[in-house]
Amino acid sequence: IKKIAVFTSGGDSPGMNAAIRSVVRTCAFMKIECVGIYRGYEGMIEGDFLPMNARSVNNIINKGGTILKSARCEEFKTREGRQKAYDQLKSEGVDAMVVIGGDGSFTGALLFNEEFGMPVIGIPGTIDNDIFGTRYTLGFDTAINTAMEVIDKIRDTASSHHRLFFVEVMGRDVGHIALNAGVGAGAEEILIPEENLGLERLLESLKRSKLTGKSSSIVVVAEGDKTTGKNVFQLKEYVEEHLPIYDVRVCVLGHMQRGGAPTCFDRVLASRMGVKAVEALLEGKSNLMVGILDDDIAFTPLSEAIKGKTKIDKELIRVSDIMST
Ligand code: ATP
Repeated sequence: IKKIAVFTSGGDSPGMNAAIRSVVRTCAFMKIECVGIYRGYEGMIEGDFLPMNARSVNNIINKGGTILKSARCEEFKTREGRQKAYDQLKSEGVDAMVVIGGDGSFTGALLFNEEFGMPVIGIPGTIDNDIFGTRYTLGFDTAINTAMEVIDKIRDTASSHHRLFFVEVMGRDVGHIALNAGVGAGAEEILIPEENLGLERLLESLKRSKLTGKSSSIVVVAEGDKTTGKNVFQLKEYVEEHLPIYDVRVCVLGHMQRGGAPTCFDRVLASRMGVKAVEALLEGKSNLMVGILDDDIAFTPLSEAIKGKTKIDKELIRVSDIMST
């Protein structure tokens, strides 16, 4: 292997730049060439390449987003699109690639490898922490810290006015952000897609909080929560109607959760994963994702990373219940 391509694809997450830096610097250390691809598979099809050396990645370890930009690309889902991408990589002299993204990006990479034999290693970059084969995805730690800090701020205003806040955080299919940020910020209730505790329980709990003298209540709601079959605004209306003792507000955190400087944890994780991704390619490995299990780097076949489901931390749910007593 003489030249490795690196790109970011799908939703961006904090730590992607640190991972790009790690891949580029490891290539430089190993004395092989490295090329960045702008805008994921879209840029691959268009041949939007950037030759990179150790100095191309100065001062990016601390930056959120991705300097290589990211995109979703429908054309790559077609055989013709992938053929164009392959032709571009070949004319650039690329022998192997590192894809930083989520399960969709891995699915595309796997298919590409089956069709054209291009060796590939994946680095899980998504704030949702929903990729099988790694305890942490890149960006998750930053996202939960961002969410927690904002909830802390909401708490200040909530307790000044004796208010109840519903704070919606990201997580359409999984509640990892909600559960962790919620426990970290001392939320009274945390509503996640994995557990439907019902409206009655929520009302009971909120009533109890008020009666036992809490000056504010915060309920963290994952986007994909199914407790009510309602969105967070309808949830607010329901609670106002059935529990008129509360002055209720809603705050949707939205995309701020994806931005910002990565935490030290995410920077270190990205640095470790990037080194291993390049080393794996040089050892002849392919179709694997670099993950972290029990604090050690672990490889999982991309095919399993795509299919497998992550488990919600039941013990943390129990801790949350006890804390909200
Ligand atoms: P996120 O965590 O943001 O969802 P992701 O990597 O899962 O990240 P997707 O939008 O699902 O994001 O996928 C990114 C890109 O990967 C797609 O835009 C497409 O170009 C490619 N891709 C996804 N699925 C396939 C597929 N089945 N075949 C070929 N390419 C695919």
